[in-house]
Amino acid sequence: MLRSFFRLSLLLAAIVVTGFGSPSLHADESTGRLDIYFIDVEGGAATLFVTPAGESLLIDSGYPDFNGRDRDRILKVVTETAGLKQIDNVAVTHWHRDHYGNHAALAAKIRIGNFWDRGIPDALQEDAQFVDRIADYRRASENQSKKLEPGDMLPLESGKTPLGIKIVTASRNVIANDGPPNPFAKLHVPKKRDASDNAASVSFLLSFGKFRFLCCGDLTWNIEAKLMTPNNPIGQVDMYMVTHHGLPSSNNPALVRAIDPRVAVMCNGPTKGGHPDVIKTLRQVKSLRALYQLHRNVKLKADEQTAAAYIANTEPTTDCKGVYVKASIAADGGSYTVQIGADGKPRTYKTR
Ligand SMILES: [Zn+2]
Repeated sequence: MLRSFFRLSLLLAAIVVTGFGSPSLHADESTGRLDIYFIDVEGGAATLFVTPAGESLLIDSGYPDFNGRDRDRILKVVTETAGLKQIDNVAVTHWHRDHYGNHAALAAKIRIGNFWDRGIPDALQEDAQFVDRIADYRRASENQSKKLEPGDMLPLESGKTPLGIKIVTASRNVIANDGPPNPFAKLHVPKKRDASDNAASVSFLLSFGKFRFLCCGDLTWNIEAKLMTPNNPIGQVDMYMVTHHGLPSSNNPALVRAIDPRVAVMCNGPTKGGHPDVIKTLRQVKSLRALYQLHRNVKLKADEQTAAAYIANTEPTTDCKGVYVKASIAADGGSYTVQIGADGKPRTYKTR
C-alpha cells in the first residue's frame, strides 16, 4: 500500500515537473544538479549548461566547416547525452567563426529559444566574409538576438538553489572595478592594443549556491586587466574555463591568479592553444587542484602540459572522437564532479 502510494506520488510529481512548455527537459532532472559540458570542437568553443530546472544554455558553437563536424558533436551532446528536445538559450561570446560557426546550422536542426550576443557590428576588420556569415545568424535568430552588456543577468530560471549568470565584460566594457584590492594587479604588463573582436568578448560569471564559474570567451590581456585591476570585482572562483583556448594573448596572471580557481578546463585543440606560458601561469595558481585539457597539445612534451589522465582527446584531429569534459554541480552547490566523457571516472571537488 505504502509502496503503491509512493509510486503514485512519483508519477504525480513527474507530471507536475515535466509539465508543458519551456524550459525543455533534462533526463536527470530529478537530481537537482547543474551540468556543464565542454564539448570538443577542436580548438573552438561550445559549452552547454543544463540547469536543475532543465533549462539549457549553449555558449558558442564551434567551427562552421568540416561537413558539420562541430554541429553534429554539439547536437549529439544536446539530444543524446543531455536528453534535451530544444536549446532554450544560445549565446555568442564574440564574432569569430570558431565561436558562432554553428548557431544557424543548429537552428535548422533543433528549436532554439533565445539568442544572446554582444550586439552585431556592421563589419569586422579581420573577417572579409563577416557580412555573409552574419546574414545566416540574423536569419536563424530572426533578427531578434538580445544584446548583453556588463552588469546584465541572464534570466535563467532558478530553483531551490539560487542560480545566476552575470555578464562581466562585453564589447570592451567591464563591470565597475569595485571590491578588495587585487594583490596580483602588479603582474599586469600591458600589451599592444588588441583591435580584434577577441577583446570584445562577452564574459559570464555563473553562480549556483556557493559554486562559482568564470568563462571569458577569447577576452584578451588588456581588457582582462581593465576588469581585474587595481581591484578584484570577481572574487575567487571554483572553476575557470581557460580563456582563448589557452593562448598567451589572454590569461593575464593579474586575472588568473586573482580568481584562484580550484579546477580549470582548457578548450584547446591538438595544435591550437595550450601554450606553455599559460600552463606556467596556471601552475602558479595557489588553489589549483586540476587542469583538464580537451586535447593533448601534440607539439608539447608530456611534462609540459597536464597529466594524461586529465586529457580528453590525445589524437590529432583526423582521428579524434571528440570526447567532452563534463562538470556536474551538486544540487546544493556544495561540491562538484568533473569527468572525461560518459565513462570517465568522476573526480569530486569541494566548493570553496
Ligand atoms: Zn576562439
